[in-house]
Amino acid sequence: MPRTVPSAIDHLAALTGYRDRDLLDVTLAHALMDLLAPLSVAVYKLVGDEVDQRWLLRARIDAGQPTAVSDPPWVAFETLPPRDTLPQHEASLRRQALVELGPDPQQNPPMAVTIFPLVADGEGLGVIEVRTAQRLTAAMKRMVGSILRIYRNFHGLLDYSERDTLTGLLNRKTFDEAFLKTAHQGGAAVAASDGDRRHGGLGPTKHWLGVVDIDHFKHVNDRFGHLIGDEVLLLVARILRNTFRFHDRLYRFGGEEFVVLLRCPQETDAAQAFERLRANMEAYTFPQVGRVTVSIGFTEVQPGDAPSAAFERADRAVYHAKQHGRNQVCNHEALVRSGVLAPSGKVGDIELF
Ligand code: GH3
Ligand code: MG
Ligand code: MG
Repeated sequence: MPRTVPSAIDHLAALTGYRDRDLLDVTLAHALMDLLAPLSVAVYKLVGDEVDQRWLLRARIDAGQPTAVSDPPWVAFETLPPRDTLPQHEASLRRQALVELGPDPQQNPPMAVTIFPLVADGEGLGVIEVRTAQRLTAAMKRMVGSILRIYRNFHGLLDYSERDTLTGLLNRKTFDEAFLKTAHQGGAAVAASDGDRRHGGLGPTKHWLGVVDIDHFKHVNDRFGHLIGDEVLLLVARILRNTFRFHDRLYRFGGEEFVVLLRCPQETDAAQAFERLRANMEAYTFPQVGRVTVSIGFTEVQPGDAPSAAFERADRAVYHAKQHGRNQVCNHEALVRSGVLAPSGKVGDIELF
């Protein structure tokens, strides 16, 4: 049996062994590195909205380098290359076809570049760029094609199990894991990564957990019916996506409750981001229903925090917002500082539940 067969199977086993998308992309890069022995492999994903899409480097490995480098997950969006500034990548993704360049004899050493589109559910996710001394052989391209099909199928399965079917936001299932990763992230270690230096390094920063609850949603259902209610939920999800940045994680926690895991440096930035959501909701006219508002509570994620503890703090802030007129953002820590809520999780001067 040729050596590449068991080796390829090993890589596929590794590829489908992770539920973490970061690891999935790194594993894909490692697999291609081993199987093709190229000069480098890079996995790029498109991020942003319909108007402004940019390339995020998910994993790059160079020959002789044991570890992958990537853009840090919180990289400033504006510093990423816009979609059309990498025309070959863009062409490969748009046509959903492989693009081959070179090898250019003017280059020293001459280098061929092969770009494979990464597509899932008919939607372009990104590209893989493989640099080699010579053009890839037909057999090599077929092998990459097969691996990408497995990647695509597995990606689809992950989406199916991790996303809410109505809104496409993340479901509750993956929240604890993502939260713990956030709460235990060593700030200094990640800040020193290569990608961070390339992008002027924002340095270690903080995370915030926000709970967003639609105001009087029962009333929307009672008055307009469940189908219209569902449409409101869909549109709220879209407003959430447009309000927050690509590295913020957005969840539907069931019903009409949403959770945001936000990364930003200061309490005032977090307050501003949640206030922007509140204002965007208030300003939006929902078809038939008209105005729908939300109450938001948020809290700072502490090192070593438990997901349930942080959620409870944010939820108490939501409760406070509900008791004080709805359509507002409440900061748990600010409420504690002003003596309205007790820090221990006990109630200050108001009665909960
Ligand atoms: P409050 O401002 O206090 O949050 O009032 P509310 O009516 O939003 O809160 P309550 O928790 O009393 O009611 C939530 C309602 O959300 C109950 C249910 O009718 C509705 N709901 C929950 N899940 C769904 C869903 O998936 N689709 C639709 N259409 N409605 C849902
Ligand atoms: Mg609720
Ligand atoms: Mg509600």
